[in-house]
Amino acid sequence: MSAYTSFLEQTELIEKLLISLNSGLILLDKDENVIFVNKWVIDSCPEIDSAIPQQKFLDIFPELKSGRVYEAIVNAGINGFPSIVSNALNRHPFPFYNPIKLIKSNDLQKSERIFQAIHIVPIGLSRQSNYCAIFINDVSPSVMREDALKKQVEKKQLAVRELDQQKKLFEAGPSVVFKLDYRDGYPVEYVSPNLYEQFFYHAEDIIDNNFHFMDFIHADDVRGYQDHILVNIETDVDHFEQEYRIIDGQGGIRWVNDFTTVIRKEDGQISYFHGYLIDVSEHKLIEKQIKKQAFYDSLTSLPNRRMLTERLNQDISRARRHKFYNALLFMDLDNFKYINDSLGHGVGDELLVEVAKRITDRIRLEDMAARIGGDEFVIVLSELDKDMEQAAVKGQIIADSLRAKLSASYSIRGNELHTSPSIGVVIFPRPGDESQKIIQNADTAMYHAKAAGRNDVRFFTEEMQLAADNRLHLEKNLRMAVTNQELCLVYQPQVAKGGEVLACESLVRWIKDNKIISPADFIPVAEETGIIIDIGEWVVQESCRQFKAWQQLHLKNAIQHIAVNISPKQFRDSNFIQFVENTLRYHQMEPSELELEITEGIVIADVEDTIEKMKQLKAMGVRLAMDDFGTGYSSLSYLKNLPLDVLKIDQSFIRDASKDPNDKAIVSTIISMAKHLKMVTVAEGIEEKSVLNHLSREGCSIFQGYYISKPITGEEFSNFLKSWDGSLLF
Ligand SMILES: [Mg+2]
Repeated sequence: MSAYTSFLEQTELIEKLLISLNSGLILLDKDENVIFVNKWVIDSCPEIDSAIPQQKFLDIFPELKSGRVYEAIVNAGINGFPSIVSNALNRHPFPFYNPIKLIKSNDLQKSERIFQAIHIVPIGLSRQSNYCAIFINDVSPSVMREDALKKQVEKKQLAVRELDQQKKLFEAGPSVVFKLDYRDGYPVEYVSPNLYEQFFYHAEDIIDNNFHFMDFIHADDVRGYQDHILVNIETDVDHFEQEYRIIDGQGGIRWVNDFTTVIRKEDGQISYFHGYLIDVSEHKLIEKQIKKQAFYDSLTSLPNRRMLTERLNQDISRARRHKFYNALLFMDLDNFKYINDSLGHGVGDELLVEVAKRITDRIRLEDMAARIGGDEFVIVLSELDKDMEQAAVKGQIIADSLRAKLSASYSIRGNELHTSPSIGVVIFPRPGDESQKIIQNADTAMYHAKAAGRNDVRFFTEEMQLAADNRLHLEKNLRMAVTNQELCLVYQPQVAKGGEVLACESLVRWIKDNKIISPADFIPVAEETGIIIDIGEWVVQESCRQFKAWQQLHLKNAIQHIAVNISPKQFRDSNFIQFVENTLRYHQMEPSELELEITEGIVIADVEDTIEKMKQLKAMGVRLAMDDFGTGYSSLSYLKNLPLDVLKIDQSFIRDASKDPNDKAIVSTIISMAKHLKMVTVAEGIEEKSVLNHLSREGCSIFQGYYISKPITGEEFSNFLKSWDGSLLF
């Protein structure tokens, strides 16, 4: 300061200097009283201002009493040496001194300020130090920053430690941790080492050999597993859980609970799956047992009433959806109480078990039998027919056959027991139907059956009863048709390419009360009830008799053989071969004079058995024809194994065989294939000459149809043979 400035100017200058100072200055006297603070201090911590002049510095900041700041102040006061407390804030924030903490408001978080004494200087007016100047700085922002940073680092370290611990804990536990690549089949990128303890695979093998996770999943669950993932991913669900089966390293099946988390890249694309598996096989087993106890009858192992109600509800909605009719049969054993009372519960229980077995044997896999009380059983027959009356008819057939089966005698603990069921039938669903109502209605119908004299079947509604009655009536009449001589045969000629009549096919008709009943109406009933065996035998015998009769007439055009249709049930009858042999012998016919027409359905039902029977017939010398060829599910592989003489092309291809390009192609393929297999082809259903000509050109050798003759009686056929000159063909 220059000597030219006056004392006043100097004072003002010093004051302004102190005001403009960008740090705090606190001046203490030798007794450590605060005697001056600059504006910076007043602005930063007003408490200090109000403390002046009486208060001691350390009374304002008592927490400094034992620290390095205090030491420095004491040193400054006593020894007069300047003391640099800290100039190394960045390296060591606080090791050398206690920070001066000032709290400016009640909001601690926001207003806690930390000051640093950067310089503590003794100021002596003589040799003795009389005053002490403390220069302070506000270091709150940097300290807080450091603090936050430190906390962050600590937090991270803690998280890593926790994660590590969790992983160890996890891997020591039953959960198998995995990481899967999001690619086809989900290649396994990581799997925890406890995999072996849990599922008998070595984790290293899995990783080293690039195994795909999908390879471990049970074949039946692969689709469900995949679908579950897709559904969740599509709906942006990144954590999901599912249950499925896997195959363990020893080939066992294990149920697992899978908790998967989808890990995505920054752009949202999936990069991998993370998750863990828990073996829940044991829970599943228990669950199954519980379910079994809750839903199944412990005596017969059939579903109980609860299960029945549940299934019935599903059946009702499924039938409504697919527009099908089902039947519910309510059944009760007629004299069960008597058996139980006289022979004891043990015998009664065994009888119930046997009844349950007989019921289960009779119904199809898709049907359900339940035991809902003492001797009460309910049977649900699914998807019987789209037509209600037909469903009633089919329900009746099954109810009848159950009745017959359950009425057969039982041998239990040396007792021969007899019981029979009374059965009430309801066809459902009808509008407003629900499970309880259906069961109740069937129960009511069952009481009607009991009232009608037991061992009977009754329907709940009149129309169902009527449909069933009509069907029963038809069946009853049909049973009598053979003995009442109501059946007759008509014959349709088969002519060869060259014009000669080679053979004829015999076709059955039923004439009842002067009305012709179509084979389409009675053959299915005959087939279902087994009456077809009687009818079929009659047809074969009558055909042979007629053939022989024509032969004995020595007509101008004698035919070489007669073709007879054989139904599936007839063909599968164990006596069939014997029957054919006996019939031929009885009529003194050459086996080659009889041709049996069978359908593809017969072959499909049991290929092995059919081939065996056909071979026997062939060895006998009987001709064999495949009827309606092309409509079934013929497989060329079995066709070549069948000892067939003839392929009869189905009528549906013949009608338009000269026009429709598809039919044309099919027919010419069948003809050339037959040629290859050394079979002759018969085209039936020929109605026009153009078709006949076309097929003749294609190589078909035998023709049958209205163009040549409709089916006619035996007598008419004799006349046909007499007058036939083959000119129709040319
Ligand atoms: Mg036929």
